[in-house]
Amino acid sequence: MPEPEKKRPVPIKSVEKMKKLMADHFLELDRAAKDRSRKIAWCTSVGPAEILRAMDFLVYFPENHGAMLGATRMANAGIEAANAAGYSPDICSYLTADVGSYMKRQTPLAKAYGIASIPKPDVLVYNTNQCRDVKDWFSYYAREFGVPITGVNTYRSVGPVTSTHVQAVAGQMREMVPLLERVAGKTLDPARLEETVTLSAECSRLWKAVLDTAATRPAPLNFFDGTIHMGPAVVMRGTPEANDYYRELLGEMRERTTGGVAAVEGERFRIYWDGMPVWGKLRELSDICSGLKTTVVASTYCNSWIFEAFDPKEPFESMARAYTELFIVRSDDVKEDYIARMVKKFSADGIVFHDSKTCPNNANNRYAMPQRLSERLKVPTLTIFADLNDLRCYSAEQTRTNIEAFVEQLSQNRGATDKRSLSV
Ligand code: SF4
Repeated sequence: MPEPEKKRPVPIKSVEKMKKLMADHFLELDRAAKDRSRKIAWCTSVGPAEILRAMDFLVYFPENHGAMLGATRMANAGIEAANAAGYSPDICSYLTADVGSYMKRQTPLAKAYGIASIPKPDVLVYNTNQCRDVKDWFSYYAREFGVPITGVNTYRSVGPVTSTHVQAVAGQMREMVPLLERVAGKTLDPARLEETVTLSAECSRLWKAVLDTAATRPAPLNFFDGTIHMGPAVVMRGTPEANDYYRELLGEMRERTTGGVAAVEGERFRIYWDGMPVWGKLRELSDICSGLKTTVVASTYCNSWIFEAFDPKEPFESMARAYTELFIVRSDDVKEDYIARMVKKFSADGIVFHDSKTCPNNANNRYAMPQRLSERLKVPTLTIFADLNDLRCYSAEQTRTNIEAFVEQLSQNRGATDKRSLSV
């Protein structure tokens, strides 16, 4: 197969505003860590951040830091340090990259924002809805900083979400409030919680609307753009600033849709991505797909920050529902139905599964789901074996060859379909 053409996606203008927002977020945390003007809570990315914001904590998300370590290719030095300290190379490479980098006193925040170190927490709050690793990860820092840790220990592999699940999780969220009030030095104001849940609900609606614009042909943004633009939905949901940003981004996406501006010029094929990004190879993978005129139109990952259940009238119950309805928490039959709906909605020609070595929680290929979906939807699938952060698990040559062969298969399928329609 000839070397694919190198075509860079048309840049998204709103990215400048997003960079400023993210810089402000980290600089505010750094100031508070230094002058102790605000209390700082660390939270898992799909944890109950709304409770923390409603109590005036500044909220820091270590997974976001883990992704930054990956994207800046600083992760592997940290992973090796954590491995040497007893954290297995087989466990979450966000955890190992983050803990190891802390041990080495290294952070990408230094180069990006002139911030010397991650902000010291006053309290750590986890939610095991995504995996057990987050609890072990936060427990390391609880010991290191000598600060309290609390969290929600949730169900996993959930089929239909029932009131039993919702009441149990909402109960755990309520139980964490007294400890948080002691750390915050103030009581939780129900009106502030309702306001924060309202803002988070709006953030989810706007982020979903942004991602949904990729259902049009050609798609105005792709998965690789999404991994960058989801930053505010992860670290700032529950704030007016995040919503302002997504209104602007949505406006730009709608303009691109109207004007036919494509994320991938000359889009020929559309694929769905399941699993984690390979943070250190976003540009490389984006270039490979663009060169093959193939758009990754949607992903499980970027959609994971859409929480449709948030309801300010029932803040605890709706947070419990939202954080339990999440894809990663669900059983394989629910996940399979979800991906099938997404493939149809976004008119995807095929599905790529990323088997991320250190995150079995986000690797959905291991129990024959690709085979079932391929049979059910009559679309080809490809599994890429790599990792979210540990680049020792990534083979550039093999990945490129596999994607090229996959796109060739899509091309042959389309040729066969075109011939069938011509002969009708
Ligand atoms: S879900 Fe995966 S990537 Fe995320 S914290 Fe857990 S193990 Fe790490």
